[in-house]
Amino acid sequence: MSKYVYMFGGGTADGDGTMKDLLGGKGSGLAEMSRAGVPVPPGFTIITDVCNVFFDNDKQVPAEVDRQIWEALDKLEGLAGKKLGDAADPLLLSVRSGAKFSMPGMMNTILNLGLNDKTVEGLVAKTGNPRFAYDCYRRFIQMFGEVALGIDMVLFDEAFDARKHKIKAKQDTDLTAEDLKAVIDEYKKIVQKATKKPFPQDTREQLILSRNAVFMSWWAPKASYYRKMEKISDRLGTACNIQTMVFGNMGETSCTGVGFTRDPGSGEKVFYGEFLVNAQGEDVVAGIRTPQPISELEAWNAGVYTQLRGITASLEKHYKDMQDFEFTVEEGKLYMLQTRNGKRTGPAAVKVAVDMVAEKLIDEKTAVGRVAPSQLDQLLHPVFDAASLRQLTKLATGIDASPGAAVGRLAFTSEDAVEMSAHGPVILIRKETTPDDIHGMDASKGILTAVGGKSSHAAVVARGMGVPCVVGCGAIAINERAKTATVKAGDKTLAVKEGDWVSINGATGEVYLGQAQTKDPDPNSPVFARFMKMADQFRGDFGVRANADIPRDAKAARNFGAEGIGLCRTEHMFFAEDRLPYVQAMILSESEKDRRKALAKLLPMQRKDFAGLFEAMDGFPVVIRTLDPPLHEFVPKREELMVDIAKLPSADIKTKKDMVARYKNFGAEVKTLKTLLPDLLKRVEALHEFNPMLGHRGCRLGITYPEITEMQARAIFEAVVQVAKKGKKVIPEVMIPLIGGKEELENQQAIVKRVADEVLAKAGMQSQKYLIGTMIEIPRAALLADKVAEVAQFFSFGTNDLTQTTMGLSRDDYTKFSKEYEEKKIFKADPFGVLDQEGVGMLIEWAVQKGRETRPDLEVGICGEHGGEPSSVMFCYRVGMDYVSCSPYRVPIARLAAAQAAISGDKSEAMRTA
Ligand code: PEP
Ligand code: MG
Repeated sequence: MSKYVYMFGGGTADGDGTMKDLLGGKGSGLAEMSRAGVPVPPGFTIITDVCNVFFDNDKQVPAEVDRQIWEALDKLEGLAGKKLGDAADPLLLSVRSGAKFSMPGMMNTILNLGLNDKTVEGLVAKTGNPRFAYDCYRRFIQMFGEVALGIDMVLFDEAFDARKHKIKAKQDTDLTAEDLKAVIDEYKKIVQKATKKPFPQDTREQLILSRNAVFMSWWAPKASYYRKMEKISDRLGTACNIQTMVFGNMGETSCTGVGFTRDPGSGEKVFYGEFLVNAQGEDVVAGIRTPQPISELEAWNAGVYTQLRGITASLEKHYKDMQDFEFTVEEGKLYMLQTRNGKRTGPAAVKVAVDMVAEKLIDEKTAVGRVAPSQLDQLLHPVFDAASLRQLTKLATGIDASPGAAVGRLAFTSEDAVEMSAHGPVILIRKETTPDDIHGMDASKGILTAVGGKSSHAAVVARGMGVPCVVGCGAIAINERAKTATVKAGDKTLAVKEGDWVSINGATGEVYLGQAQTKDPDPNSPVFARFMKMADQFRGDFGVRANADIPRDAKAARNFGAEGIGLCRTEHMFFAEDRLPYVQAMILSESEKDRRKALAKLLPMQRKDFAGLFEAMDGFPVVIRTLDPPLHEFVPKREELMVDIAKLPSADIKTKKDMVARYKNFGAEVKTLKTLLPDLLKRVEALHEFNPMLGHRGCRLGITYPEITEMQARAIFEAVVQVAKKGKKVIPEVMIPLIGGKEELENQQAIVKRVADEVLAKAGMQSQKYLIGTMIEIPRAALLADKVAEVAQFFSFGTNDLTQTTMGLSRDDYTKFSKEYEEKKIFKADPFGVLDQEGVGMLIEWAVQKGRETRPDLEVGICGEHGGEPSSVMFCYRVGMDYVSCSPYRVPIARLAAAQAAISGDKSEAMRTA
């Protein structure tokens, strides 16, 4: 005969901790605790299958289930020494749901079951505390009425409030036993009116109705929604736990509390928690009274304290993880109500994992799996002090683009940001940023934009710099000229102006008005270093590189454990103030001769940059990409020029001087503005494109202006020679962007190879190794990867552009409809943040396989933003890439994600099950 009901309590249990499928999480936990000799209030669990049978049988259960329930109740009454419905000394029960996976707050609970008009008097007599007894009874009628009888809770609340009003009570605790008796009468009338029957006095009927109500709550709309969200199967069903009630509110020798076996904020091995004397669980959570720290429990009851320390320590040993526990002391006797693995912050997760290895509680593999890669973010960036945030007004929530907490005064232009940063921290606020905001971004503690997504310019650059950034904050309307912004915050519209303090949280996208306190974490703490060392040993030869453009970022990347540079975007070097004039001169040149002249000026500067990168990466590879962005990004905006031309005839001298400053790189003077601006507009117009991201950019620039590629190759290899001559090992890899097929790569490869061989031969360094490869960021290049690999010595997937081109989705404008797409589950996540493994991933897998068919030793990596996102890193590992490359501050996250991917199975196994 099938077993439907499992007992626990009294130092034994029918089930155990492995039986989550049958007993649910709570039931199996109670069974396991009971077996381990932990004092849990005894009870029994009706298994999850019964929930399914209940729904399959028109909300009935077979007679055999009821028989087993009554048999279990008999045993329970024996263990508790009390009987359900006994008018002299009633047994009271709780009836709770408990599915295999925790579904917090989604299903029903009924407490104090077993009270009726007679037993409540027994409870009065037994406890000598009429107020307590009547309060339990009125709580029971209310909960049972709502949950089992489906009565609107508002009716009960109104009756309760009416009584409070009548006696002018401020708090619930002001109601006397007599008041509560009157409330009970009112409640019973409500039940009679709503159900046309009196409140059930038969305690067994109460039990059956409560059990059914718990099962019914499996299909409550919020529970169904939660399951859909968490991908929990509807067929799992919930178990139903029926357990003896214990009371922490029976007087001064009773209490209730919660705690952790270690500090969940820091991970320190300290006993952590709080308790409230003469109170029930919900009083602790409700915050009506301030609980005492658990350290004071010893003074209150030393015996209970010692017992609790012993039990929780052995629970931690048993579960081999930090425990989050609930307990109640009823008249001096301790009961454990729950224990589970405790949630913790990133720093605590790392500390607990490292400490537990040292304590020989877990092995290193388990420890590495205990920290979610995204949790490391908290160790790498400043965080807000939660208490100080609560004092501030939240302005808006945008997209979390680069984690960390930043506080500063608002600056509306990059020039202002630079100037204001001399006097204190600055937050740069822009509609969107462009490459010529780089100096303002660099001077700012945080960046806030109104438009753009996770791979917008602001997001990519901020992450690279490790600067907190919130993008796509659509609630903010910015007037850059007036240096003001308005923000819709709920139904209010708030105005902010230059110099106002704001606090932004790049990890959540939240923007606050005012100055919050921040806390600085220490990424180089011994605990963190120890943890990362443990993780790295599982990664094997799967590498983690960084996207870094300047020596400073390269050094930061090394500090975070990067094993090379996976992408140096050379154009970022062009925006420095001393270079922009030459870059602009080069772009606006009308002849190759003029262009070469400007390039000659840039060459030594680029060489110096590259040498800095090679030095910082001594012995690790450095991938340098040739020029990629559309050239118009380097010249004044067409629309701004048009406005200035229109304004010029009536402009006063101040306005003209402003214009001279704006166009100083083009030799502007007050008297030449009139001819210069229209001339400039003509040349800017010539660069104008309707679809610049699909236009004259990437390798197309190097093909039409081969002298640019030539200059860059010369700068790279002259830097190689320079640094190698200092005795350092240099591993250069030159990368050609945005190819659609092998022919484009052949064209550029020929230039790079010619220059490289010439420079190396001249230096007598013919044996210096280098690679020439390509980005894969256009579907055609991925589809024809076997042909491309005939030329390319390495592939690096530029998944920002590959996502854009595969999905036909603009990486800059996607946020216009992203919220709806993600809410309607059309996209599981932002495809520019989390790699679309199904679609874009299919192209990647194909390209890796085809590329290696042609060239088995083809080096393959990723340098799009996805290279630092944990689930995408795991994908890259599975499809057999050699490395991922991401912004320096995400390097530890990628290292951990890669280690976890390696631990979860070998590559071939992982690929089969992907
Ligand atoms: C990419 O497209 O993924 C990439 C790394 O290049 P960028 O973001 O510079 O276009
Ligand atoms: Mg790209």
